[in-house]
Formats: sequence, C-alpha cells, structure tokens
Amino acid sequence: MLNSKDTLHRFIFENTDIRGNYVKLNHTIAEATQHQALPQNLHKALGELMVASALLASTLKLDGSLTLQIQTNGPLKLLIAECNENHGMRGAVKWSGPIESSVAIDLIKEGHFIITLNQKNAKTPYQGIVPMEGNSICELLENYLLRSEQIQTKLWIHSQDNIFHGLLIQKLPFNSSVESIDSDTMKNAWKNVVTLANKSFKFIQPEIKTSEILQAIFPSETIRLFDPSFPKFSCSCSKRSVENMLRLIGKKECESIIEEQLSITIHCDFCNECYKYTEDEVNFVFNDSGDSIKH
Ligand SMILES: [Zn+2]
Repeated sequence: MLNSKDTLHRFIFENTDIRGNYVKLNHTIAEATQHQALPQNLHKALGELMVASALLASTLKLDGSLTLQIQTNGPLKLLIAECNENHGMRGAVKWSGPIESSVAIDLIKEGHFIITLNQKNAKTPYQGIVPMEGNSICELLENYLLRSEQIQTKLWIHSQDNIFHGLLIQKLPFNSSVESIDSDTMKNAWKNVVTLANKSFKFIQPEIKTSEILQAIFPSETIRLFDPSFPKFSCSCSKRSVENMLRLIGKKECESIIEEQLSITIHCDFCNECYKYTEDEVNFVFNDSGDSIKH
C-alpha cells in the first residue's frame, strides 16, 4: 500500500438509481499533516473530515473547491478539510490545551459545521450550515444532504494503520436514470446496499483493490466501476493570495505591524510555507492597485 497511489473511484449499481464513490487516502493525509504534530485523536478527526470532503466533492460538478470547516468553543478551535476539482486536497487543525476524546463527534458537537462551495464562475461562495444532528461526521452530513438537497446519502469512514477510507452511496431522485424499474424495487435495492455496507464496511481491509473491496461488501450486486482519479496533497496558497489578504487587513493595520515588528510574516497552516514582507514590499502591495482582491 505504501507505494500505491491514493485513489477515488466512482461507481454505479447496475439497473438501479444508486451511485457511489469510494476513496482511499494514505499519502495525501500523511503529507497534509506532516508539519502539524497532531495528537492521534486530532489526526483521526482530520483524516475523517478529509475523506468526507473528497467523497462529497465527487458527487458535485465541481470547478473550484469544497471546504468542510468545524469551529468549536472548546479546546478544538478549527478543523478544516478542502478538496478541489482535481482532488487536490489540504487540511489543518488548530487547538489549544489537551484534547481528551478520541471520538471525532465528541470533539465537534458543541461547534459550528460549515460547508463552503467555492465555484470559479460564482461571484460569491455558497455556504451551508450543517446542523449538529447525528452521532458521527457521516451522520451529520447524511442529515444535511437529505435536508438541503433532498438526496438520500449514506457515508461510511474508517481508518486502519493511517490509511483512511470511505464509502458514499446516493440514491438519485426516482426515474432520473432507470425508468423501467418500479419504486418498490428501487427502495429494496437501496435498503439492501445500505444494510450490506452497515454490516461489513468497518471490517474491510483498506489495503486491497477497490474492485475487491466493493465485491466484498456487495457480493450479490453488479457494480460498474469507473476509472479512478488520484487525490493528492496540494495547497493553493500563493504570494498573490497572501497579498490579497494584506489588502483585506488594510494599509493602516499593516503599517502598524511593520512599525512593531519591522516586517509582516504570514504562515500557511496547510503547507507550512512562510511569506515575509518588508516595509518596502508592503508599500509596493498597496501601491500596486491594479490587482483586484481575489482569493
Ligand atoms: Zn499553503
């Protein structure tokens, strides 16, 4: 497994209106977390959120990024995972003080859970609030999708030896793809695949191939597996995005930081890159008015 790429597969159950995604993340999470010195429980919580973001991103016509972000008033300040249209992914955690629980839902249940969809062609990002209803990150997202999109969705996420993997299945609106099959047959097909995944997903070894994993979970189903995509760690920070951030902070505030500290240092929590600006460089940013503010 160590040498194999991280993968994401889309698939459909033949002759049904059920589609699915399966993702396996190992290197992506290792790279995303290598600078963060996370305690084991936060590493697990971030890994789960990153898997969830890849699974959800794959259900969308994405031309930009999908971000899952949880903020709490407890010791866990921020848990954030992002996936773009090419499955470039990043994630970060901010916390202060000891974090006791090893169960992600216990860490986040007093928090705010926000989904942001940043499409390149949209004027403003779309933001949705995920109600804290459920006993796992999976259940929270299932309830959100049912409420906001009226789409029945089930997610399973599990990790073993730092390999995180997840399964998502979605029931498309009736008649959208298979018109010849009646609604009772569809309901039974949905019930059947959910029962099978509930029963076995947590026991599946993530090292084996996706086709074998799906075969092991759904032995009686005919599944069409599409070509995989390959998620990887990728950070979208850049000199340009940092300069736009300085413009948002404002000239006055930047000048006062320069007065105090002689330079401004911006650190990217996702990739550990450091951007340093001297007084001359800050002046240049504010005189260079040709650049519009763009993230
Ligand atoms: Zn970065």
